[in-house]
Amino acid sequence: MNHAIDELKVPLDKEIKLRDVDPAGTHGVTRENAADPLMKHLKRLSVLQYLLYAEGRRSLLVVLQGIDAAGKDGTIRRVMSGLNPQGVGVTAFKVPEGEEKRHDYLWRIHKAVPEHGQIGIFNRSHYEDVLVVRVHDLVPKSVWSERYRQINHFENMLSENGATIVKFFLYISKEEQAQRFRKRLEDKRKNWKFSPDDLKEREYWDSYIEAYEDVLRKCNHDYAPWYVIPANHKWFRNLAVAQILVETLEGMKLQYSKPSADVSQIRFE
Ligand code: ADP
Repeated sequence: MNHAIDELKVPLDKEIKLRDVDPAGTHGVTRENAADPLMKHLKRLSVLQYLLYAEGRRSLLVVLQGIDAAGKDGTIRRVMSGLNPQGVGVTAFKVPEGEEKRHDYLWRIHKAVPEHGQIGIFNRSHYEDVLVVRVHDLVPKSVWSERYRQINHFENMLSENGATIVKFFLYISKEEQAQRFRKRLEDKRKNWKFSPDDLKEREYWDSYIEAYEDVLRKCNHDYAPWYVIPANHKWFRNLAVAQILVETLEGMKLQYSKPSADVSQIRFE
């Protein structure tokens, strides 16, 4: 699986075509041999989270994007389950309303960026402002087309100020989405998740793919890389996301901060 992680990273110098990516791909991993590595990664994540907190100088921002039913909620539930709730925050971004609408589109995003020592997970994000907004012409092209540049500047600024950013596009096939919707309709425990709007959105599938491809090309940088995660198989999705998070945190070379006193001199009864 190790080399596969590099394959999931969107290349910086090449235009990605999603039709070249298999959403059911598993990069040679089988369901049976995915379970142990996942457990290992989840344990390691918990240790790394502690270190991030103990260092207290930097943060990790995880952006999760995907078409409806791609598994954003499931990924959060499974991959973040071993984390200490004190050090992690999840923000779900919905249709902007009230105060959010009276500000620029990055205002609510910036407010939710994790403080140093913390992990912040975005369930949807500022990318909606060049995805749903573009697909449905919610603002003119002259407005959304400037946003790629603005987002790059914003993310670059965050990264220069202590945020490590990692972005995941959970990629499922149109057929897999249909199956998940069917399940939502048939399974009483999943009925609540079903929204007729999801079926309407499905008709815009190709426009979403095009909008995602533009995002993956225009907003992919070493300071805020995109990973395309084949997500038809939930077990592969979880393994891949967990492994990338471990590697990202390892790459930060986290260090315990120095104690505020010389602890070797302190004695007490
Ligand atoms: P989810 O599908 O994430 O589980 P919802 O069913 O409440 O949650 O959907 C949230 C909706 O909010 C999505 O349709 C998404 O496209 C929309 N949304 C998020 N951000 C924006 C935005 N900036 N502008 C317009 N719509 C947005």
